[in-house]
Amino acid sequence: MGKIKKLDPIVIDRIAAGEVIERPSSVVKELIENSLDANAKQIHISTYEGGIKRIIISDDGEGILTEDLPFAIEKHATSKIKSIEDIETIQSFGFRGEALSSIASVSYLEIQSKHKDETIGNQLISRGGKVLAVKPYPIHKGTKIIVEDLFFSTPARKKFLKSSSVEDRYILKNIIKLSLSNCDAEFIYTRDEKKVLHLLPIEFYSLTERFNMIFEDSFSDFLLPLYFQKHQITIKGWIGKPRINRKIFGRQFLYINKRPVEIKNFSYIIKNAYGDLLPENSSPIYILFFEIPPKSVDVNVHPTKKEIRILEEKEIFDYTIQAIKKALLPIIPIQITEKELKPGTSVKPYKTSSTVLFPIESVYSNPTAKLFTLQETSSTYSSNNLPPKEEIKASFLPLQFLGVIFGTYILACSEDQLYLIDQHTAHERINYEKIKKSIEKHGISSQHLLSPILLDFSLEEIEEIQLYKDLVENYGFKFHLISKSTISLTQIPSFIEVGEEKEVFLKLIYKIIKKIEPLSLFEDILH
Ligand code: ADP
Ligand code: MG
Repeated sequence: MGKIKKLDPIVIDRIAAGEVIERPSSVVKELIENSLDANAKQIHISTYEGGIKRIIISDDGEGILTEDLPFAIEKHATSKIKSIEDIETIQSFGFRGEALSSIASVSYLEIQSKHKDETIGNQLISRGGKVLAVKPYPIHKGTKIIVEDLFFSTPARKKFLKSSSVEDRYILKNIIKLSLSNCDAEFIYTRDEKKVLHLLPIEFYSLTERFNMIFEDSFSDFLLPLYFQKHQITIKGWIGKPRINRKIFGRQFLYINKRPVEIKNFSYIIKNAYGDLLPENSSPIYILFFEIPPKSVDVNVHPTKKEIRILEEKEIFDYTIQAIKKALLPIIPIQITEKELKPGTSVKPYKTSSTVLFPIESVYSNPTAKLFTLQETSSTYSSNNLPPKEEIKASFLPLQFLGVIFGTYILACSEDQLYLIDQHTAHERINYEKIKKSIEKHGISSQHLLSPILLDFSLEEIEEIQLYKDLVENYGFKFHLISKSTISLTQIPSFIEVGEEKEVFLKLIYKIIKKIEPLSLFEDILH
């Protein structure tokens, strides 16, 4: 008897599900995409225990017709395309009809939905891909999908899942990705009954508000807007300002026709476009939206569509480089004319949101160099309206503001000297002084974390940490013990950079335990 046998359909489905549904965050991604495809304007996402226990996504979209509901969880059943040609012009996220069938085959799945043209809603319940019930159900609007007990039927997959908190982070990442390219929709995300994100609908050009809510209050200060259009291709979005020397990873978002995608080497191309303007060992920040005729894109190369193929890839790369270079050109040209340079006439200041010039380190450390005063750029300075001599403090001299070059350097002059001030370094210096002063005056201010950071320690370490809890909390951290060996960090000193929380926390504990003055540690970090 031959050894080759056709697999049972249930086995086939469960194997296939592995391609689309890798982990709870894949379920969240697919369900949000379905809601967006149904034109939802409000999407609620609730997850429990990293989504492994339960995921609920409800929307106010168009809903599913009564007669369609049983087909929704069938393999390759979709309302989004009818023929292969349709893929060429596809605008929706979905078209393969695989997500719901895959999710259904590895979980308990419940769909409640009411189509906008029908008066009564329906409910479908399935387990392991088998439909258990389809019946009328009171639902007011849209679709609600409940996924429980994920991977109960594929224990091998379940074993590979990480802790709830790690899965939570993957989920948040997927929500963030989709929320950035769908700014006209409202997203509400609760995790284990606690609200994590609430993003209101906004216009595209106000997307920076969403960045600030998601990442950090001042994230948009690090960004330059970008717009480029050639032939039928538009690139718009934001890139990091030059010389931003921050260790921010994971701030790279790329969308093609609203779809979050990954293109190999893309980050490298962007980095090259920056040239010397990007510090070494740092990765560029970008949130870029490409609008490309759908015909030039093949989205059907990856089951989850995270990778795509672009027909005119070289052209797109060239345009990207041009777009970045254009965005990095002087944002505002130097506003100076010969007439303005004549003694006694005023020089128009560069209007910027950061309103002060400040002594920078190189000037500081060189005692022979002339220092200059803090100066509001919104006021006009000229040799005519200089403050009287006695008002000039110590060796500080006022500078005339000339302009900004390369979007980075402030050009200013005193009577006989020209100053090139690196805005970024100056900004860091201002921050350093501000934070230092504020710590000296008010102690350390701290910020709440959007999602707590979990740190594992040995049992002895935990005991010591508990012992010094009050002292540690004086330095801006807040934490509590959530298991025998894990603490949950909920607040950190506000000046700590993303990704440095654990390291700083550990160093602080070490210094406290060894009775070394922890303030010196903070000086180090501030530097
Ligand atoms: P695809 O999105 O590729 O079509 P899915 O398996 O994700 O396949 O969904 C199957 C079908 O179920 C969709 O084509 C759509 O008609 C319907 N559907 C799924 N989720 C929703 C939703 N939230 N609102 C309205 N219809 C939905
Ligand atoms: Mg889908």
